[in-house]
Amino acid sequence: MKKYIMALDQGTTSSRAILFTPDGVPVSSSQKEFAQIFPKEGWVEHDPMTIWSTEIAVATEALLKIGGSWEEVIGIGITNQRETVVVWDKSTGAPVYNAIVWQCRRTADYCRELTEGGYSSMIKEKTGLLIDPYFSATKLKWLLDNVEGAREAAEAGQLCFGTIDSWLIYNLTGGRVHATDPSNASRTMLFNINTMRWDEELLKLFNIPASMLPEVKPSSGIFGYTSTKVIGAEVPIAGVAGDQQAALFGQYCFDKGDIKNTYGTGAFLLMNTGDAPYLTDNGLVTTVAWQIGDRVTYALEGSVFTCGAAIQWLRDGMRVIESAADSEYYARKVPDSGGVMVVPAFTGLGAPWWDPYARGIVIGISRATNKYHIIRATLESLAYQTADVVDLMERSVDTRIPRLKVDGGAAANNLLLGFQADLLGVNIERPECIETTALGAAYLAGLALGTYSSTDDLRRNDKPDKTIAPEKSDEWREASLKRWRAAVERSLGWAEI
Ligand code: ADP
Repeated sequence: MKKYIMALDQGTTSSRAILFTPDGVPVSSSQKEFAQIFPKEGWVEHDPMTIWSTEIAVATEALLKIGGSWEEVIGIGITNQRETVVVWDKSTGAPVYNAIVWQCRRTADYCRELTEGGYSSMIKEKTGLLIDPYFSATKLKWLLDNVEGAREAAEAGQLCFGTIDSWLIYNLTGGRVHATDPSNASRTMLFNINTMRWDEELLKLFNIPASMLPEVKPSSGIFGYTSTKVIGAEVPIAGVAGDQQAALFGQYCFDKGDIKNTYGTGAFLLMNTGDAPYLTDNGLVTTVAWQIGDRVTYALEGSVFTCGAAIQWLRDGMRVIESAADSEYYARKVPDSGGVMVVPAFTGLGAPWWDPYARGIVIGISRATNKYHIIRATLESLAYQTADVVDLMERSVDTRIPRLKVDGGAAANNLLLGFQADLLGVNIERPECIETTALGAAYLAGLALGTYSSTDDLRRNDKPDKTIAPEKSDEWREASLKRWRAAVERSLGWAEI
C-alpha cells in the first residue's frame, strides 16, 4: 500500500514536488513558478502564503498525476532554498511580513559595520560563515527592527522565526511543530556548529529573542505528522535538509572527501569533510551537511557566481547560440579554444579571487579566432572556475578528491564534463537521476522510516549515467591552469579603473 516517498523541493523560483519509489526512481512530479517581489533595488521578497500554497498544490498534483493518494506515501522529505527568513504569528500562523529571500542585499551596510566592528573571526569560529547579507541573522534583525510591532510581539513570545523548511513543517502539521534541521540552522548565522545549539552570544548580538527560534532536530528523523485537516492523512515528515546539502546526500557523498558540483546559473561545490568542521580563511564556508541520529557530518562549500549564466550570455547577450545545448555542438566544431580564454567575471569573482571589481574578459584573440573558439572558451570557463574552488577545498582539508559528482542544468554538456575531467585529473560522474536535491530529501526521510537500513543500503541505488575519465597529461593540466590564472589576473580590478 505505501509505495512512494514524497520530496517537497521548495526553490527560489519555483515550488516542486517529486514522488520517488524506494529505489530512488522519480515516478511523478509537478512544479509551479511563483512571483519574485522586488520592492527596491537589491531587495528580494517572496509571499510566504504563496510559497505554502504552491508547495501543497504541487504535492497534490504529483499524486493526482498517477492516481495516487496520501495513504500511499511512506513519508515526506523537505528540501528548500536556504537562508530565506519567514516570521509568523504563533497563534494565527499569519506571516508578519514577506519572506526576505537569501538574495536580498538590504542589510549590506549593517554587515559592513559588523565586519568593521571586528566580529568576523568570532562569527566564523561559531558558525563557519562569513559576514554577508546572504545569511539569515541580519535579515531577521532587520525585520524585527522595521516591521511595526514585530519586536514587541517577538519579545512577548508571540512570533515564530523559521527558514522555509520550518515554515512548511509548521503549515503541514497544522501549526503543531516548529522545527528545523542543522543543515538549515547552520545557514542562519545564529547557530553554533560546534555545540550544535543556537548561540546565546549571537542571539544577543543580533537582538533575537530565543523564544522565536525553531527546535533543531536531526535531518533524518520524525519532525512531526501532517495534520488531517491539511491533507486528510497523517504522514510523517521525516527528512529535512537545505537544497545544496540535500544534493550532496542525493549524490551519495556520504564519505569524507566526497564532493559534488551543481552547474546551475551559478555553481555550488560541496565537499563532505566528515565529523569535523574545517574552518578556512580563504572564502569557503563551513556548514553542517546533515545530522543522522547523534552523528553530525560537516561540509565545505564554495560557489562560483557565473556558471551556466555565462552560457545564457552566449545565447541572450552575444546571440551566438540559440539554446544552451547548442554550446556543445558549436564548441565541438573546433579541437580547442585556439588559445582564447574567457573569464566570465560579470559580477566580480568569488573564491579564490574575491574581487567584486573584476569584470569579464576575452583574451588571446588572434586573426584565426572565430565564434566557435569563443563559445568553447566560455564553456571551458565553467570548468576552470570549478577547478579553482576544488583546488581551494583540497588544500583546506589536505586531501586529493577521488572523483567529482555533478548535476545541474549544464551537467548535461558532455564536452564540459570531459574538459572538467581533464582539468581535475579525476573521473567525473553524472548520476542517472539528476534530481539529486529532491532525492536527497527523500533518502533522509526513507532512512528515518526504515525504508533504508543505512547509507550503505542507499548506495545500491547509485547508478552513474555517465562516467568521464581524464585523457590529458599532468603537464597539460598544469600549463592550462597557469594560463587560466594569468587570464584571471588580467580581469581583476577592472571596474575600479
Ligand atoms: P538553476 O537551478 O540555477 O536555475 P539549472 O540547474 O536549471 O539552474 O541550470 C540552468 C543553467 O544551465 C542555465 O544557466 C543554462 O545556461 C545552463 N545549461 C543548460 N543546459 C546546458 C547545456 N547543455 N550546456 C551548457 N549549459 C547549459
